[in-house]
Amino acid sequence: MKTLLWNGDLNQAARDLLSWLLKEGFIKGALVHMALPRYRSFVPALTRDLEAIAQSWPAPPLMAHQMALVVSRMTIRGPVGQSIAVVLRPCEMAALRELVKLRQAHLDGLLTIGLDCPGVISLKVWQKGDRKTLLETFLRRPEELIGYRPSCKMCLHQAGEGFDLVLGSLGFPSGKTALLAFSPRGEEILSRSPGEAGDLLSRTEALDGLRAERQAQREKQLGDLYQRFSGADGLLDFFSSCINCHSCMRVCPICYCRQCFFDSPAFEGSADNYLRRARRKNGLRLPSDMLLFHLGRMNHMSLSCVSCGQCEDACPAGLPIAQLFSLAAQKSQELFNYRPGRSLTDPLPFSVYQEEELKEVEAPYRDIWHP
Ligand code: SF4
Ligand code: SF4
Repeated sequence: MKTLLWNGDLNQAARDLLSWLLKEGFIKGALVHMALPRYRSFVPALTRDLEAIAQSWPAPPLMAHQMALVVSRMTIRGPVGQSIAVVLRPCEMAALRELVKLRQAHLDGLLTIGLDCPGVISLKVWQKGDRKTLLETFLRRPEELIGYRPSCKMCLHQAGEGFDLVLGSLGFPSGKTALLAFSPRGEEILSRSPGEAGDLLSRTEALDGLRAERQAQREKQLGDLYQRFSGADGLLDFFSSCINCHSCMRVCPICYCRQCFFDSPAFEGSADNYLRRARRKNGLRLPSDMLLFHLGRMNHMSLSCVSCGQCEDACPAGLPIAQLFSLAAQKSQELFNYRPGRSLTDPLPFSVYQEEELKEVEAPYRDIWHP
């Protein structure tokens, strides 16, 4: 595969690439992150201004906003009419491809540019920590940073799928970033791109090494979680300090329903009803139905969960909710041999019915109904 090396780290190479794409007429604008004053946060912005691109942060140290959700809001009514570049991390791209399959976003018109991802810093660490030092470490010595999201430490998505172009930093000399193409459009751009020829082998080795490290970490983190919180009592214990704010749902790129059933009038019971339930159970925790909300959400979206960690970063109660969802997702996705984001044509498991599947789940119930 042709590999071209651009000068600069990931952010600088992405800024230069976007400016070049604009000047050459490949794109009419770009969706990138901009820093707020004193690096309070990083927010997505749509721009065609070269000055703004030069100040942008295409690979910010945080994921304050999941870019798949931003693209979904922008394209839910139809594709963009002009060519717009969007820079995404691998889990954001996986979520975006799921949203396309769920008819919540369009990819047409977008030039998707992926990034090799070392992870992002947890929002709570960023808000409480010394941002200058954190940013400096993230940019210069990412391997020394200790504030990554727990989901990033066990992420297996470092190199994403389905992009037109990818900017690769793993395995290349410091101060150089590789440009790789993964679609006919990307290849056409690469054939006209400046840059010196690079060696892809070093990236493959670096990715394999990182993936093995993250896989081991994943087994440890999820194994510990499973030990502590499996079963109904374990789940009740896990969610015992949940304040039922539903923030985890609102920031999740996969939870796209406009009206969540758990926020609907169906859950506005009469006082008599509450009293009856309280009498029957000898006491009723309020607000009620907290565990039902989480199990319902998990049931609806765990096949498409991309383990991005956004829900955990948003949780004011500090619950390791993304890790729990990742554990449930791993099990349900393995069951259906489904990997979210892998393909735009793999059918969503819930959208197809096969009579001859999951017999092992069916068997115990068959004995109950047909003894
Ligand atoms: S459940 Fe959490 S980890 Fe999974 S896709 Fe939604 S926000 Fe990301
Ligand atoms: S964000 Fe945290 S506290 Fe709020 S509902 Fe989700 S798990 Fe519970």
